[in-house]
Amino acid sequence: MNDIEKRVAELNKLLHEYGHAYYVQDKPIVSDAVYDQLLHELIALEKENPSLIYPDSPTQRVGGAAAEGFRKVTHTYPMLSLSNAFNEADLRDFDRKIRQAIGDDFSYVCELKIDGLAISLRYENGIFVQGATRGDGVVGEDITTNLKTIRAIPLRLKERVTIEVRGEAYMPKKSFEALNNARAQKGEELFANPRNAAAGSLRQLDPKIAASRNLSTFIYAIGGDGEAYGIDSHAEMLDYLEGLGFPSNKEREKCATIDDVLAFIEKWTENRPNLAYEIDGIVVKVNRYAHQDELGFTAKSPRWAIAYKFPAEEVVTKLLDIELTV
Ligand code: NAD
Repeated sequence: MNDIEKRVAELNKLLHEYGHAYYVQDKPIVSDAVYDQLLHELIALEKENPSLIYPDSPTQRVGGAAAEGFRKVTHTYPMLSLSNAFNEADLRDFDRKIRQAIGDDFSYVCELKIDGLAISLRYENGIFVQGATRGDGVVGEDITTNLKTIRAIPLRLKERVTIEVRGEAYMPKKSFEALNNARAQKGEELFANPRNAAAGSLRQLDPKIAASRNLSTFIYAIGGDGEAYGIDSHAEMLDYLEGLGFPSNKEREKCATIDDVLAFIEKWTENRPNLAYEIDGIVVKVNRYAHQDELGFTAKSPRWAIAYKFPAEEVVTKLLDIELTV
């Protein structure tokens, strides 16, 4: 093996290990910044050396395997990930590629990227029948009973529709602090962050635990074809879901240009501490479904959306220096 081959193998091994701890065990062993940095190193090496892309490389997969103990659910439509942007140049590059493909006449919708756990909810004739985690994007865990304990999730919709929706279950900052304080007093292990606390709570076999954790939810998409519901844009779909009784996040904005997107990001980089829940970035989506259809998907994520990730905070940067030099 030459040095590049060795590094690619090493990165695959490390990222599998970190991904398993994060996605399957809900106990990260490194910070997100460390994980993202290693992942980007691997992406760059794979780009230059396509023959070194392992079929199970973390760059080719979504999330982690479903945990044992829960019934498995095969998603009717895959639950994908989002490609990431870390700075203005990445966002301008995303915008340039879109304009090359569909021209200049389109708009974006910007949303907060809620730092929780992706969930899929299925309603038949307006009644909540099944809720699942994303798992590896194809097969997730059936966590219906736990999700029923979240008051924000409607058990019955305002119309008798059959629909699958996607969203994020999260733990509000206050609930997270109260939970960790109580755990500290009892000498129990603390949760690393609200995301892991939410995921850990929903992946408990005893629903009383989830019920005691004060979780909440925002719904942000239909699983599958929104056009089947007579809708032709993402913004309209969010209004439609709200009309059915789903909790949607109000801090969304239509943006005509990438400069407007950058202004939205700047606003929320500043306002982020004032929110009652954690966000880890801003999701930018091309609004019209016709445009989304033209742009299509890669194996792992849509080409019409990107997740801008906030830079790691001071503490994390220090942690990163230490971890990377070890
Ligand atoms: P992602 O976090 O980059 O983005 C995709 C997810 O964003 C979706 O699945 C959805 O759940 C969520 N989301 C929140 N708000 C949304 C909205 N308004 N619209 C659409 N989606 C929205 O992708 P990922 O695959 O879940 O995971 C990657 C993340 O996990 C990175 O942040 C990475 O740092 C972290 N991670 C950390 C470790 C670790 O060891 N610390 C390991 C693996 C992954």
